Amino acid sequence: MDHTKINLIVRLQHLDNKIQNIVSLQKGLPEEIEALEEDIAFTAKQIEARKKIAAEHAKTRERLNDTIEHCRSKIKTFKDKQTLARNNKEYDALSKQIEYEEKEIAQADIQLQDIAQTEQKASEMQEKGRQLIAENRYDEISEDMMPDDILEQQLSDLRDQVEQKKEELESIIVETAGEVSALEQKISEQRTVVEKEAKRLLSKYDHLKNGNIQNAVVKLHRQACSGCNTRVPTNRHTLIVQGGFYLCESCGRIVVHERLFDEAAEQDG
Ligand SMILES: [Zn+2]
Repeated sequence: MDHTKINLIVRLQHLDNKIQNIVSLQKGLPEEIEALEEDIAFTAKQIEARKKIAAEHAKTRERLNDTIEHCRSKIKTFKDKQTLARNNKEYDALSKQIEYEEKEIAQADIQLQDIAQTEQKASEMQEKGRQLIAENRYDEISEDMMPDDILEQQLSDLRDQVEQKKEELESIIVETAGEVSALEQKISEQRTVVEKEAKRLLSKYDHLKNGNIQNAVVKLHRQACSGCNTRVPTNRHTLIVQGGFYLCESCGRIVVHERLFDEAAEQDG
């Protein structure tokens, strides 16, 4: 068996590719889950903000109604006192107090109307949203237009979806766990060998991987680097065919003959 330096690094790439293939079985589920969780957080925040506003309105309304009730009872007391007033001065003084309480009531009423109006507007917006949904005009719906019940439904749907995707991912992870750990073991052993026999190639390999190039070692394909499709100079072809390697001038990948990958696969069994 040929154990040249380049064969060692090709075998490492072969094993890394196998792990990558297993990860790709996850079919983008981790990214989908992440996106769904962002949607969930956004929707939950919207619902929470609406509930907070509703609670504030309820609290203010309660306070204002208390004020009104309190003022009314005071007015009643003052009016009772007026019937017992001994002179005009006393009567007028009570009238002024009644007037003051009436103004308080009027002010509270205005604030109550403001709240009612705000709520009315919000509900009209949601009604508009409901119509747009019925007409499938989703792109015209603003955040405020999304009806409360539909927002809740969306949140619940999103939670179901993320739960399902998580289960799917979990089962893939469980199914492939044995294979992955066996591969990880092989990779670790292979790295030890490469470290010893071809340290410079390994550091080149790791450098590319750290730059997010997963396929650091690639095949020569149609006389070009199959990583970036840049043509490999003709005078290097012979070297590659003979089992050597070429560093792509354009992307820096290690270009080898495809035969080397076949050999690595055979060796792997
Ligand atoms: Zn290249």
